Amino acid sequence: MEVELKELLADLQSLKLSLPDPSNRASIDQLEERVERLTKLANSASLRRSKVKDLSAEVVDSNPYSRLMALQRMGIVENYERIREFSVAIVGIGGVGSVAAEMLTRCGIGRLLLYDYDKVELANMNRLFFRPEQCGMTKTDAAVQTLSDINPDVVLESYTLNITTVQGFDTFMSSLRNKTFRPGKEGTGVDLVLSCVDNYEARMAVNQACNELNQTWMESGVSEDAVSGHIQLLVPGETACFACAPPLVVASGVDERTLKREGVCAASLPTTMGVVAGLLVQNALKLLLQFGQVSPYLGYNSLKDYFPSMEMKPNPQCSNAACLERQREYILAKPARDAAIKAKMEVEARTTVEMPLHADNEWNISVVDDCEPLRGDVSSSDALPEGLTRELPNADEFHKFPAAEPSATTFDDIEELRRQLDALNAD
Ligand SMILES: [Zn+2]
Repeated sequence: MEVELKELLADLQSLKLSLPDPSNRASIDQLEERVERLTKLANSASLRRSKVKDLSAEVVDSNPYSRLMALQRMGIVENYERIREFSVAIVGIGGVGSVAAEMLTRCGIGRLLLYDYDKVELANMNRLFFRPEQCGMTKTDAAVQTLSDINPDVVLESYTLNITTVQGFDTFMSSLRNKTFRPGKEGTGVDLVLSCVDNYEARMAVNQACNELNQTWMESGVSEDAVSGHIQLLVPGETACFACAPPLVVASGVDERTLKREGVCAASLPTTMGVVAGLLVQNALKLLLQFGQVSPYLGYNSLKDYFPSMEMKPNPQCSNAACLERQREYILAKPARDAAIKAKMEVEARTTVEMPLHADNEWNISVVDDCEPLRGDVSSSDALPEGLTRELPNADEFHKFPAAEPSATTFDDIEELRRQLDALNAD
């Protein structure tokens, strides 16, 4: 674009010089000015921020990580900077996967591996992330284009392939094993796989790969009527795998794709997909950065705003051989795991005694007992800053009823009470 504009400007200048009548030059001057303005606009649009070496907690408008590092400062996350060490693989860059990729990119994830074989179409524009001018590009390439502009610090790997083909599955497996990003890492080269695909066959392929590689992953899905969805954590051997509890309705031995009739398609809403992507990445962050509780399974019914949650144990009769192998390993490792948990709890118990909960109280926050009367009988309306008054009476005013007269009759025991009742009934 910049080159074309430069050429256009040169053409206009030579046209101006070749004109025999100088009176026509004014309109060419105007055209030149417009091209110069467009060149400036094009240059500013392509301005990208430079890479950041270390995450900084400095509170300045120019720091892209200040709001994220504040999580550390507020004690939500112990070490936010660790996010740069993590690699997350996202399979399926559609309505959920693309938004999940953008969220992780904005959070400053270390490395993202993106898998999809599809192209961007106008029919995808009801969802978030992709733009109309990206139509015809592969979803992976279009995603890399947008994500690298948003955050150039993230290492992006794009795999335009179908993981349900033999070759695609092999490439998928070897890319997950690749440890060049963090050579010292145990297990595979990725910390988490997010499945954001829209069909059973692809989910089974992710399940197979993760069971074989002993790789923790999260599954996500949105219903065909676009009004419900779910996320699920799958830890091989520890929780149910995707084959342990298969869905109730699946294609019966026929190619699932042949079930899709021409001109008939699933509904989709950017809202439901955005919510599911948000829940998925929220739980991915909790798992990676070790804060809060990770949901084992969380459903979302948008019609009733209902979020069912449950846990699923692995099925000892699972049809997946790799799942059974992981289950055996998990049971064998139980004594070591229990000992580690016990040791950790002991250490935590000791540090709780030794360490004050909040050593530095920068904001002067103190805990006040609800029952304790306010010091010096200061009513809470007095606590308002100068210049503010209460529109409604203070809640304390309602408590200032005259004290009830102490009851004239007191009952020493049940017998006395019974006598009183009998006397009343006799009247
Ligand atoms: Zn299983």
